[in-house]
Amino acid sequence: MIEIISVANQKGGVGKTTTAVNLAASLAIADKKVLLIDADPQANATSSLGFYKNDYEYNLYHVLIGSKNINDVILNTNLPTLDLIPSNIGLVGIEREFDYLEDKELILRKRIKDLNINYDYIIIDTPPTLGLITINALNASDSVIIPIQTEFFALEGLAQLMKTIKLLQHTTNPKLQIKGLLPTMYSSKNNLSKQVLADIIRHFREKLFIDKEGNFLVIPRNVRLAEAPSFGKPILLYDIKSKGAVAYEMLAKKILESAE
Ligand code: ADP
Ligand code: MG
Repeated sequence: MIEIISVANQKGGVGKTTTAVNLAASLAIADKKVLLIDADPQANATSSLGFYKNDYEYNLYHVLIGSKNINDVILNTNLPTLDLIPSNIGLVGIEREFDYLEDKELILRKRIKDLNINYDYIIIDTPPTLGLITINALNASDSVIIPIQTEFFALEGLAQLMKTIKLLQHTTNPKLQIKGLLPTMYSSKNNLSKQVLADIIRHFREKLFIDKEGNFLVIPRNVRLAEAPSFGKPILLYDIKSKGAVAYEMLAKKILESAE
């Protein structure tokens, strides 16, 4: 059965794109058929997989406005089981162009139903806002992963995100679940990072993933994770032994286990 997971947090720079790309790739390497949808007009997930704006003609914008069939904008990546629907800066126009539509918050969910390929997972990378695109992503999803940077102000804005999720659960998407909170860019050598992680654990213990040693799953600060996108590669194809690769493989494992 298909499982659709959004990666969301309206704060920028918290590791959403890194998580979406590397979770999608790790699931694909585990032999699942995966579609990554880049729903951020900044198109960072698209470029992280090595695609630039001249490499493709159509993107998620055309699918949402209905000028292109969703099946006709899918790109094949370096990984045979990973496909991508790219984004482009033009996607920002959606917020205004959909304003008059009655079901404007449910368009992406509808378009996904038109897919011809049987994917095991769809991972959606979202922009750093709680605007119409993010709402569309959440309404199209079974669950959401929330990356939280283990830095100052980490919890800022989280209440707003939780409120939005709750609202959708009570209205347009009752099945929406919080798959988990994912502390990112964690550095055990940094006191602030440790303090913030302790805060996250105190507030959200039951929403954190647990790794194979029984610890809370955190994504370490790892320069290889930051380098990989400039080579157009997910971390597992760039440096499979890095701490970042191991952490995202573990996240993928938790997602696979949760479906069993
Ligand atoms: P968002 O999508 O939430 O804006 P990104 O995933 O783009 O966040 O991450 C922001 C920046 O931090 C990027 O330059 C990315 O390469 C870097 N980054 C993300 N996660 C890590 C990490 N665990 N270690 C080191 N750098 C990271
Ligand atoms: Mg991003």
